[in-house]
Amino acid sequence: MTATTDGDLTSGASPIYCDFCGRASADAGPMIEGKALLAAGVRPVIAHICASCAETCEGIFEKHAHKSIGLSDLPTPRELVAHLDEYIIGQERVKKTLSVAVVNHYKRVMGGEIEDPELREVEVSKSNVLLIGPTGCGKTALAQTLARRLDVPFAIGDATTLTEAGYVGEDVENLILKLVMAADYDIAAAERGIIYIDEIDKIGKTSQNVSITRDVSGEGVQQALLKLLEGTIANVPPAGGRKHPEQQYLRVDTTNILFICGGTFVGLDEIVGKRLGRKRIGFTRGAVSQDAERERDELVAQVTPEDLERFGMIPELIGRLPILATLNQLSEADLARILTEPRDALAKQYRVLFYYDGAKLEFTDDAIREIARRAKARGTGARALRSVMEGLMLDMMFELPERSPGQTYTINDQVVRGEIPLFASSTPASVPETVQG
Ligand code: ADP
Repeated sequence: MTATTDGDLTSGASPIYCDFCGRASADAGPMIEGKALLAAGVRPVIAHICASCAETCEGIFEKHAHKSIGLSDLPTPRELVAHLDEYIIGQERVKKTLSVAVVNHYKRVMGGEIEDPELREVEVSKSNVLLIGPTGCGKTALAQTLARRLDVPFAIGDATTLTEAGYVGEDVENLILKLVMAADYDIAAAERGIIYIDEIDKIGKTSQNVSITRDVSGEGVQQALLKLLEGTIANVPPAGGRKHPEQQYLRVDTTNILFICGGTFVGLDEIVGKRLGRKRIGFTRGAVSQDAERERDELVAQVTPEDLERFGMIPELIGRLPILATLNQLSEADLARILTEPRDALAKQYRVLFYYDGAKLEFTDDAIREIARRAKARGTGARALRSVMEGLMLDMMFELPERSPGQTYTINDQVVRGEIPLFASSTPASVPETVQG
């Protein structure tokens, strides 16, 4: 059976085929029929499209509908910060720095013709960003949230996996390929995207793991990366992997791609402290007191390009990352806020999951503090929140669908510590009583 484009249903005796994918209606289901007028006076051709192809077409239309953002669509830095505030807790200074850098970048990309002859000659330089901050404090999340707000393609890469062409590992062009894939192979969109490169502090340092196939010095990677950051036409193998002489490359201009690089830069505080003539206060790499953390943040916030050079970054790379922003360690109080406040906060996500089973979930303030305390002790910033939470919720999520709906469950600090199970009362007969929260 088919539906004609004017909405009528028709049933044909002979099999109908989708003119896009070629499947028969027995396989593809009902189809929409259309009449294509090829020329005046000639009988129209009947064409068909199945539901699946129609859906694909709709997706393509939708995707292309919002690709052409112009200067007038560009949010202001204040609007960007307000958007970041909905997802990222703290890191106020970085939010401001990043938002200004990103807006300046897209002004430069979308600006178009300048009429003032004096200004026409001025070339606004590219504002790639270097984010310095501990693990799990929001570097990737900041870059990702910005890209989502701006509706530009976004890709994440890891500098430590990159190697010079001809060695085992990834070519730097694979970073561009990831972006092209994120843009669904729309090269023009990818050329305005954002790439986040993590662990940028790890390249250039000699690897412990000496191998004959690996580019140990990182020199070649750095050179290749420099070109990408600065702006070049990258030849990207469309299927990924190694370049092959007979392959057709995608040519991607990286001039307008914004690169945000991130790294933890362990030990940078000591370099800055030394330059400032500060006495070391005995930083250790593991758990540290809140004062020591604050002092470490304060020192890192005063970083200069020279400090980065002393750290081991090559000056050319530092030069191509003109915007420096440092992130703070997340305190226990920050972690507690991250659990509950952002739009996609973990506590909210679990409330939604409980809702699907007809139940209500609540966390007491003490429970949130206890989860934050446990996460903080792991030393991996907000990243630890997910694993602590998953450990806590696993048994409950396992059991929840078997419980009668309409109940409210409250998680308090004792449940978090495993002292009492959440489902202590009215446990269904099929589930053992020993389920722990
Ligand atoms: P990194 O600094 O190592 O790049 P990520 O940005 O990947 O850390 O953060 C890891 C996880 O923690 C993500 O799910 C992220 O949303 C969350 N997160 C980290 N920092 C914050 C923050 N300041 N506010 C809200 N969520 C955060």
